[in-house]
Amino acid sequence: MFGKFITLEGIDGAGKSTHLGWLQDWLRQRAIEHVITREPGGTPLGEKLRELLLHHDMHLETETLLMFAGRREHIAEVILPALQAGSWVVSDRFTDATFAYQGGGRGLGIERIEVLEHWVQSGLQPDLTLLFDVPLEVSRERLAKTRVLDRFEQEQQDFHQRVRNCYLERARRDPARIKVIDSTRPIEIIQQELATLLQELI
Ligand code: ADP
Repeated sequence: MFGKFITLEGIDGAGKSTHLGWLQDWLRQRAIEHVITREPGGTPLGEKLRELLLHHDMHLETETLLMFAGRREHIAEVILPALQAGSWVVSDRFTDATFAYQGGGRGLGIERIEVLEHWVQSGLQPDLTLLFDVPLEVSRERLAKTRVLDRFEQEQQDFHQRVRNCYLERARRDPARIKVIDSTRPIEIIQQELATLLQELI
């Protein structure tokens, strides 16, 4: 029996890392086998690509191709073997992020991303995508308190607004898979909603 594939998405500072820890505890408490992973990254090669993607300037097409190169490796080495063994997989970002950042944020044509998605994933899609959503001001305020910004996080406000809009548009088109989580609320309230969504997956 296949495990469940869950992805976490949203603009930076929306709370993905915060809720990833909680999600891991939730799975542990129920003795559900799981793998926690991330993109870009998730494999030794993918982590090297992540370093390049987050810190080196490059052409938009190069950036997109490297994202999908890392994703191919991630799917083949980590995601599919785990799901096939019945384990759940929780990934901090996946292909919705490519649509949002390279498509929405940087303006690469969606149809080109769809070609790569089809090629690299052969139909594999998350069972559930949690889209943590906050207005830009909230994201900026939280990030300012917590970390040194990478190449994506340093982008201007309008870039992040386009990324957020693209995520929300994708959620509108695929509400069965992508659940928008209003992440301006207190963490405990958000986690009650997450628990309900996860329970539905079991
Ligand atoms: P992401 O992984 O999406 O970039 P983080 O989980 O690192 O976001 O959260 C960024 C900051 O915002 C952290 O300091 C975190 O504690 C805080 N934070 C996350 N969710 C909330 C929330 N619902 N209310 C208040 N602060 C939050």
